[in-house]
Amino acid sequence: MRLVRFGAPGAEKPGLLDAQGQLRDLSQIIADIGPAQLSPEALAQLARLDTEKLPVVEGDVRFGCPVGQVGKFLAIGLNYREHAAETGSAIPKEPILFTKAISCIQGPDDSVMLPKDSVKTDWEVELGIVIGTRASYVSEADALNYVAGYCLANDVSEREFQLERGGSWDKGKGCDTFGPLGPWLVTRDEIADPQNLGLWLDVNGQRMQTGHTSDMIFSVREIVSYVSRFVTLMPGDVLITGTPPGVGTGRRPQVFLKPGDVMTLGIDGLGVQTQNVVAWQPLA
Ligand code: ZN
Repeated sequence: MRLVRFGAPGAEKPGLLDAQGQLRDLSQIIADIGPAQLSPEALAQLARLDTEKLPVVEGDVRFGCPVGQVGKFLAIGLNYREHAAETGSAIPKEPILFTKAISCIQGPDDSVMLPKDSVKTDWEVELGIVIGTRASYVSEADALNYVAGYCLANDVSEREFQLERGGSWDKGKGCDTFGPLGPWLVTRDEIADPQNLGLWLDVNGQRMQTGHTSDMIFSVREIVSYVSRFVTLMPGDVLITGTPPGVGTGRRPQVFLKPGDVMTLGIDGLGVQTQNVVAWQPLA
């Protein structure tokens, strides 16, 4: 299934795309796509619905993050060899784990805002894992059983905040609007192999990143198992898995985002995001 949340920010309704790609309203069936709807049992119930009987949603709609009430938004750094190389970093011996503030989560096509005083805001297309079942000390062999599905993510990053201001990376990772997720939560049964997906990202129509999840240093299985030894993963948690080469900080000369730029990114089977880049302004 391709599950979505659509409507105005903060008032999104649950929905799904039917076999024809038509948006159908699920709000009479379930309250949201969130922790309570992501268990294997809850997803199996949804999969049994006759989608033809669900109301069609016509016209242009805004998509929100396809997971509501995300409790944790965790990220793996430097998980593609060539990306580690382009940033001048060593290949990690163990996964690098950092946190993105959940307040940065937004819809896939909402504008990305440069933080006040930002000079080095950058892009990172990534595969996102959505947890469906509580996971603590799970084995690599079992790890995928705890995954509800996958989504596209842009791990927007302010490199000066991340790398030149001391302390952890988190300062440059959780700024408002730095977490576009979606458009779809694609359930695990529809992704035969999460290590066989192409990823790409354009800025202003120019291809910047091209990658493939087969090039990950640590696989989805390894990541879920590894992270579950440090924190308990809960239904609705989102874990993003690192970015392939081609980020702005790795280019010579370096390139960073400015107001008016447009990012477009996608992953095979997980849809496309488009974000306009805008100057900082107070959020409502
Ligand atoms: Zn990243």
